[in-house]
Amino acid sequence: MDRVFNFSAGPSTLPLPVLEEARDDLLNYKGCGMSVMEMSHRSQDYQNIIDTAEADLRDLMKIPDNYSVLFLQGGGTLQFSMVPLNLLRNTGKADYIVTGTWAKKAYTEATKFGDIRVAASSEQDGFTWVPKLGAADFRSDADYVYITTNNTIYGTRYNYIPDTGGILLAADQSSNFLAEEYNVGDFGLIYAGAQKNVGPAGVTIVIIRRDLLGHAPENTPVYLDYKIHADKGSMYNTPPCFSIYIAGLTFQWIKKQGGVRAIQQHNLEQATKLYTVIDNSSLFNAPVQAEDRSHMNVVFTTGNDELNAKFVAEAKEKGLVNLKGHRSVGGMRASLYNAMPDEGVDALISFMKDFELANR
Ligand SMILES: *Cc1c(COP(=O)(O)O)cnc(C)c1O
Repeated sequence: MDRVFNFSAGPSTLPLPVLEEARDDLLNYKGCGMSVMEMSHRSQDYQNIIDTAEADLRDLMKIPDNYSVLFLQGGGTLQFSMVPLNLLRNTGKADYIVTGTWAKKAYTEATKFGDIRVAASSEQDGFTWVPKLGAADFRSDADYVYITTNNTIYGTRYNYIPDTGGILLAADQSSNFLAEEYNVGDFGLIYAGAQKNVGPAGVTIVIIRRDLLGHAPENTPVYLDYKIHADKGSMYNTPPCFSIYIAGLTFQWIKKQGGVRAIQQHNLEQATKLYTVIDNSSLFNAPVQAEDRSHMNVVFTTGNDELNAKFVAEAKEKGLVNLKGHRSVGGMRASLYNAMPDEGVDALISFMKDFELANR
């Protein structure tokens, strides 16, 4: 089989040039006689790989010097625990905005560690919109406010950054990391699992303001203390070496595309093209409130389970794969991460039009 257009929500499609470069260097990385997978993480060759990855990421996101960049394991899910463990440092209170499954899981995990409140939730409407909150909606003595900037499963995104009235803002950016421009200074902490937009599963990137390090309780398990990782340059223990290497190649690819702003513009064009087809269709519809639509994960349905299944199956035969919606939502979901080529979006649109004609 040739390479397909892979609309998976994660792990997901990666830029072809990244895969090709990794393939070319797989057995013998730049003449050093071994694969990146076989290198000591303490070797100079590997130190160069991780240093370059961090420098490129700092460049792409304009990360200020008073922020640490960490390459960790444990996925987004471990961050659900690490964030409260490390950031509940004064009153033990935090306010969460619950906009989907991942935000709700993060909230539930945090309740193990402190006085955690749901500031707002759109669950009663099936998470089809994002609450608009301002400073008055948060407890003024909260240690932090928590958001999920892009909701992978429901296909929504924040089209604004909440004014927290000076309370620290922590964000899960797993599914729109490096896909939209953010001012890192607006956040105390940003994290993202790599497997949505950056690389293979196995590495989670944390960007944290340095003054927030060192406040975890004394009995915090060593791996869960951000300060340990920051002090050791993400080398307290063996890091996910190969995943960091691929993420680094993706950072270089993004730079070649013109950086995050150019990528964001391209993502918006692709998503707009697809939503326009859905909006003009008499067969498909998008359940998400228009102003909160994700540019990454486009959720749509025919409203008929059988027809949805037929769509997913026939699309697969055309090399358009992983279009089935998340089991908790049903319908379809097309994930248009940074690496999705225009040809993939165009092929999907053309198939949707054919399918509509054949199934009216
Ligand atoms: C996928 C995802 C997670 C969970 O990531 P894991 O690495 O599987 O733990 C968390 N948050 C968001 C927004 C996600 O898309």
